[in-house]
Amino acid sequence: MNVVIPTEDTHMQHIIEKVRHGQRLTLEDGVFLYQSDDLLTIGQLANEVAMRKNGKKVYFIENMSLYFTNVCEAHCAFCNFRKDEGDEGSYTLSGQQMIEYVEKHFHAGIREFHIVGGHNPNVPFQYYVDSLKALKDRFPEVTLKAYTAAEIDFFSRISGLTYREVLQELMKVGLQSLTGGGAEILSDHYRKKMRVDKADVTQYLQVHRTAHDLGLRTHTTMLYGSIETKEDRIRHMMHIRELQDETNGFLVFIPLSMQPINPRAGIRRRNSAFEDLKTIAISRLMLDNFPHIKAYFINIGVQLTQVALTMGASDAHGTIVKEKISHAAGALTPEGITREDLIWLIKGAGRIPVERDTFYNEIKVYE
Ligand code: SF4
Repeated sequence: MNVVIPTEDTHMQHIIEKVRHGQRLTLEDGVFLYQSDDLLTIGQLANEVAMRKNGKKVYFIENMSLYFTNVCEAHCAFCNFRKDEGDEGSYTLSGQQMIEYVEKHFHAGIREFHIVGGHNPNVPFQYYVDSLKALKDRFPEVTLKAYTAAEIDFFSRISGLTYREVLQELMKVGLQSLTGGGAEILSDHYRKKMRVDKADVTQYLQVHRTAHDLGLRTHTTMLYGSIETKEDRIRHMMHIRELQDETNGFLVFIPLSMQPINPRAGIRRRNSAFEDLKTIAISRLMLDNFPHIKAYFINIGVQLTQVALTMGASDAHGTIVKEKISHAAGALTPEGITREDLIWLIKGAGRIPVERDTFYNEIKVYE
């Protein structure tokens, strides 16, 4: 049963009616929601949608983040992870070195490696293929969710292969899904200003389209909280909503709250809690064809993640073990979290924790 939402705003009432009748929200609706300060109404409405799609279930996974290299030819203004070759702290791990790292931190139950890294032009495409192969050979039961669409575009440039050929080469050695990074804000204007000198809007979408066509299910993100306008954010959501209509290949949308340590990005403060919650709720309302919206505790904190589970989010990500990219950018949150803490967090929000695999197949329900 839907609760009565007390609002006298006619545009808000119109949006409530649309959402309750399963009608799609427009650009104007999305921008209006961002301009509204009525977080409780927006959150309640998003909660209705989340409950309709997933009931009280909130998903998580036991996973581990891996970073083969931090050497990167790009210079995204918001990034504090990248290094030039030879810089202090720069590294490029061989497959064997990565296996040694994983063996040190691995525990039974980890079912996914989340693999991203810099665009290192000093090693050939074969390096990235061999890295995956080494991991898959050693840990055949663990799903390889590897590389962003921007990395796939980079591999295509250094190898001369098409996106399809790059993906096929990686799939042969075990690639099972793409990570969602590299989207940032899908706006050419934004990408120019933030020096996102990697895959552009069309290329980002084309990589995912190609992956979906090859049978991969993938993830997608939005890095918000710097120079972009609210309209840019809604247009971003509409870009991926359109592709989802076409392919139905995205598993989840992940809003990433910008971490502000790097002054080159022109960010002085973290996003407010209000802004983070509103973005999750509005994502849930705009992306009517996405099964899940993720609350990423690494960027918004554990407590806010818990509240987000009542405002549209149905995924609390995973255990991670040791996160590096957001922490290089100034994240103040833990680098990982235990399964027990994730279950506590989800239950504390009155939801049912469900351990999942990469593809949202249910492994265990913690009633
Ligand atoms: S965000 Fe990624 S592509 Fe951009 S500089 Fe950092 S590591 Fe390189």
